Amino acid sequence: MKKLFNIKNKCGMDLSETEDLYHGLGHFAQKRFGFKKPPTLHLVSDDDNASKPLGKTAYYDPQGMAVTIYTDNRHTKDILRSLAHELVHHTQNENGMLNDSGYHGEGYAQKNKDLRQSEKEAYLKGNMCFRDWEDSLKQSKPTIYNEWRNIMSTKNWKNNELMENLTEKFGFKMDLSLLKEDKMPDENKDGIPDYAQDGKGENDLEKSKDSKGKKEEETEEETEEETQKGNFKPKKGEEPIHLKKAREAKKGKK
Ligand SMILES: [Zn+2]
Repeated sequence: MKKLFNIKNKCGMDLSETEDLYHGLGHFAQKRFGFKKPPTLHLVSDDDNASKPLGKTAYYDPQGMAVTIYTDNRHTKDILRSLAHELVHHTQNENGMLNDSGYHGEGYAQKNKDLRQSEKEAYLKGNMCFRDWEDSLKQSKPTIYNEWRNIMSTKNWKNNELMENLTEKFGFKMDLSLLKEDKMPDENKDGIPDYAQDGKGENDLEKSKDSKGKKEEETEEETEEETQKGNFKPKKGEEPIHLKKAREAKKGKK
């Protein structure tokens, strides 16, 4: 990924996995908004600001042509959305549309008509730019950025959590995946479901499932596989498999 921004990482954040996203969004926004010179990007940490529920998230400095983003306790996606917003202000500035006159203090978006207009444009165009960039990314690299795997992992995690609670409460374990089935398969018709027979596993149950949407089926199969290998839940210090795969896929792209 060709770097677009000069990033001043003053918050000590680990950017090794995410820096490409900043530049990627930047290139996308530049193409859409048409700004010429990319602004400097300051990533900062501020304990005092972070402790305020309505503290600052980001601002644009028209003189210094710099975007500053407060990163404390924020998800990367949220930080990037802020970046898209500030890039609209940067474009407004380059085009002489960021009106410097009038009231700039607290509540300027309510009291200064021109700045309110700039703000409206930044919210609309910034958010839509972010959304379109995100969607385009997920379409081009579904295995890395698509949320399917994460959703499935969360589902499994929930099941595990629920199972532990049940075990605690009733003193026995049960397979929650069976709750999804209308009827438990019983191949030899002895009244004992196949899963309970010795040597029978979830595999048989899996095969008997009705066909589902392709995407879901694929994801479920993969997750199933991971569960069977016993590496769904990473051991302490071990990288979760979906992160590992994503990282390897990313490495292969370089
Ligand atoms: Zn704004």
